[in-house]
Amino acid sequence: MDEEGQALLGPARCYATGSRSNMAAACRYWVVQFYSSSCGHCIGFAPTWRALAGDVRDWEPAIRIGVLDCGEEDNYETCKEYGIYYYPTFRYFKAFTKQFTTGENYKAGSDRELQTVRQMMIDFLQNHSQDSRPPACPPLDPVPSHDIATLFDKNNHHYTAIVFESNSSYVGREVILDLIQYENIVVKRALNSDKAFLEKLGITSIPSCYLIYPNGSRGLINILKPLRSFFSSYLKSLPGVRRKLLSQLPIPIKQNKEESTEIKQWKEFDKSKLYMADLESGLHYLLRVELATHKMLEGAELKTFKDFVTVIAKLFPGRQPVVKLLETLQEWLVSLPLDKIPYDAILDLVNNKMRISGIFLTNHVQWVGCQGSRPELRGYTCSLWKLFHTLTVQAAIRPKALINTGFEDNPQVVLQMMRRYIQHFFGCKACAQHFEEMAKESMESVKTLDKAVLWLWEKHNVVNNRLAGDLSEDPKFPKVQWPTPDLCPACHEEIKGLHSWNEAQVLQFLKHHYNNENILYKYIE
Ligand code: FAD
Repeated sequence: MDEEGQALLGPARCYATGSRSNMAAACRYWVVQFYSSSCGHCIGFAPTWRALAGDVRDWEPAIRIGVLDCGEEDNYETCKEYGIYYYPTFRYFKAFTKQFTTGENYKAGSDRELQTVRQMMIDFLQNHSQDSRPPACPPLDPVPSHDIATLFDKNNHHYTAIVFESNSSYVGREVILDLIQYENIVVKRALNSDKAFLEKLGITSIPSCYLIYPNGSRGLINILKPLRSFFSSYLKSLPGVRRKLLSQLPIPIKQNKEESTEIKQWKEFDKSKLYMADLESGLHYLLRVELATHKMLEGAELKTFKDFVTVIAKLFPGRQPVVKLLETLQEWLVSLPLDKIPYDAILDLVNNKMRISGIFLTNHVQWVGCQGSRPELRGYTCSLWKLFHTLTVQAAIRPKALINTGFEDNPQVVLQMMRRYIQHFFGCKACAQHFEEMAKESMESVKTLDKAVLWLWEKHNVVNNRLAGDLSEDPKFPKVQWPTPDLCPACHEEIKGLHSWNEAQVLQFLKHHYNNENILYKYIE
């Protein structure tokens, strides 16, 4: 969602200019909730509104969600101007509105379920007059069967997906809007009224999605559940289908030759697997690069480092030489009753034990599941997430591993250790701040090791949601709510048309995904 309060001010400024060239921000529709932070009901409704904003995030070029807190002094005048007398009040604003407008009331009545609001947004978009249609909004009306037949003969260079559905279904329009930010694909919808035509295409149930490939071949797509999330996720993952705006961004020129040759060869990998090469490369970077920027460890930093090494030495599901190195480091740290340690001394130990004594950590970076389409994308931060997810899962599966460490019986052991690591050492300070905010909010409520696994999963998805469409996003690996339906169909459900996670299935999936049996040793030295 746009930052609280800012959403409305953006387009409002734009409407006021009256000049079409200055109206970029008003080229879309807005649906705005005016609320008051002093209104308990509004606060109760806030999670639904936030969920809606996340749910329709990809629709932003056509329609956006906004909020304004009329309980805040700075906003009194604006709310008065819009004639807001009770909360929450919902208003729509058409694209290309040339002056301040009071918008249109959304008569929510008692039914303010997310699905209802989402469908009203679609109705609003679809029923716009021609002159107020947002340019980014593709046609939402169904395509007649005779027009579809002509698509089969055309030689397009992109995919064309057609969602066949009943007259009352919104799935087709939702999928069309979900894909508007993606290139190399056009999504259309068609109704199931021409039974003979449907039969010819082999469509026996609706909604179904028929796909015409760029090479002219075509057929029904095979997904496990005929739901919006499954259709959209499948289409977004087609080879060559990428987020539009990001792919149009200029690719930064590399600073030096060495950097630009970093990704020499693309390594094929299976996204349902965990690669030891990522975990070991991440550990190498963490120990030899990130921590090495700290000349001296003392006080809270030293305590954090010691606890980190204690926990990881017990839980890292790695190869013998690496685990031995971590154990040696841990024993060494315990044996030193110093209140400060120069990091060089730690580096010596990490570097010099080497292969001879069977204690060894690679000093080569080999990203596999964490490789990016450009050298500056993904890599270390991806591996750090994977490392901490692995540790939460290992702690939940093997709680006895922590006996005699002082951390046994602490369900938050990995989370607290991660929180302190991120706070003291993670190079991205803004990331650390965001993470700390999430930790402050709810980490204390984690009461079991299983809940710790789920807490980190949920928070990682919050970060994914926040970063979707961000400059740091790798166009080849768009930020998604994970695991995607293809990785874990059982994790996804729909309740009254709204996507919902089956947390028991998510936990089962995470415990499998981040467990030893799912680790591949391919590409490892
Ligand atoms: P990542 O998000 O790094 O995910 C790595 C892998 O983990 C994925 O490929 C997938 O296999 C798996 N995965 C994805 N989601 C989940 C999940 N919910 N549960 C379990 N596994 C999952 N960058 C910023 O720009 N701003 C920030 O505020 C920010 N905060 C960060 C906070 C932390 C603690 C960390 C470790 C990183 C943060 N980053 C932030 C970096 C950012 O989250 C990504 O790591 C980076 O953009 C690379 O993204 P990626 O595509 O490799 O996927």
